[in-house]
Amino acid sequence: MPSGVRSESGARHPRWADVPETEWTDPRWQMTHRLRRASQLREVIKLTEEEESALGSDDLFRVDITPYFLSLIDGDDPRCPLRRQVVPTSREMEAFDGWLPDANSEVEHEPVRGIIHKYPDRLVMLVTSSCTSYCRYCTRSRFVGDGQQNYSRTDWREQIRYIRESPRVRDVLISGGDPLSMARKRLAEIVAEIREIPHVEIIRLGTRAPVFNPFVVDDELCDIIEANHPMWVNIHVNHPYEITPELAAACSRLARTGAPIGAQAVLLAGINDSVEVQRRLCTELVRIRVRPYYLYQCDSVRGAGHFRTSVTKGIEIIEGLRGHISGYAVPTYVIDSPGGGGKIPVAPNYLLSLSPERAVLRNWAGEVSEYQGPAGYRSGTTPPLRLPEPSAPLPPSDVRTVSDMLSAPRSPAGPEGGGGA
Ligand code: SF4
Repeated sequence: MPSGVRSESGARHPRWADVPETEWTDPRWQMTHRLRRASQLREVIKLTEEEESALGSDDLFRVDITPYFLSLIDGDDPRCPLRRQVVPTSREMEAFDGWLPDANSEVEHEPVRGIIHKYPDRLVMLVTSSCTSYCRYCTRSRFVGDGQQNYSRTDWREQIRYIRESPRVRDVLISGGDPLSMARKRLAEIVAEIREIPHVEIIRLGTRAPVFNPFVVDDELCDIIEANHPMWVNIHVNHPYEITPELAAACSRLARTGAPIGAQAVLLAGINDSVEVQRRLCTELVRIRVRPYYLYQCDSVRGAGHFRTSVTKGIEIIEGLRGHISGYAVPTYVIDSPGGGGKIPVAPNYLLSLSPERAVLRNWAGEVSEYQGPAGYRSGTTPPLRLPEPSAPLPPSDVRTVSDMLSAPRSPAGPEGGGGA
């Protein structure tokens, strides 16, 4: 069988062939039977010297892999794109130019432990340091996987107080770690408390758990989502081999809750840095009713040097998607700005020249066309809205030009700072 591909019936690795179906599909069983040590992994993977060496290191980002995900891995192929995401190699220990412990300066934007507030109207709430399995390129490896740095009731209480006292926050992304790795009761309490804050309009769950343990999308989780709408769910999927019948079923259950489902991927060298893989990933996601949202440039975080690609490669991939597959399936390629400036979209250039009179454009197939600008267009004639005030005030609608931005000092981030980062 080729690397990472398995039968439609959801075959398991022989090591777990005798596990009753009720246990195999129990999300808790998957969590309590994760493998982490070389002696365990050797039973399902022919470990290379590089993998053995990393697994023997004292200073290793946590390893924990569910039996479900291990069953997707090709144990004979060190290049298997799923294996490379979760099985460490000694290349993680290599330093590289520009690596940062906190690649996106999250700590600098943390007014309360576990709240990352970079934009005026939204923020990230980190509720746990635990994950279902651990991605070797994790941006938050500075604390993820470290039980000592987990969040407590006191932290959640402070986080919710901060949100309550930040009337401009309309959108809360619950993240971690992985919020679906925490006890359902805790998650339900946190979501319900946020839902009671009048100015919070939407609550998002950011998770990779359905990829590592699709059984986590159970009735309890669906009930939490349904009871607290509007909720959105964003899953993290990097490779079409991750899109199994089990993940499709999990996404179907999520879709039935009425939550829109998006997906993000990280661009990873030797894993998904090809147009072929990305086209397949994006079209398969849409097929299971998941909208590709972001394709992230891999952050310059410790341990991830060997996963990074050039930015040119990312642009080439978007060039290979836009126009070739449905626009709905094309994610926005973004670089999370080192220094904490937030996500910056990067795209191929389709605008060849621009003046008020005309725009010269090229399309996905390289054909050039011209759009004639309207004579006498005047901006600013749209009447102001006559709608009730939204629950949280929207950011000012004036747009800053590039020259404004270059000449103005940066606004401080913060709940009422206005500019955000
Ligand atoms: S699931 Fe997300 S937070 Fe957890 S290790 Fe992977 S990238 Fe990091």
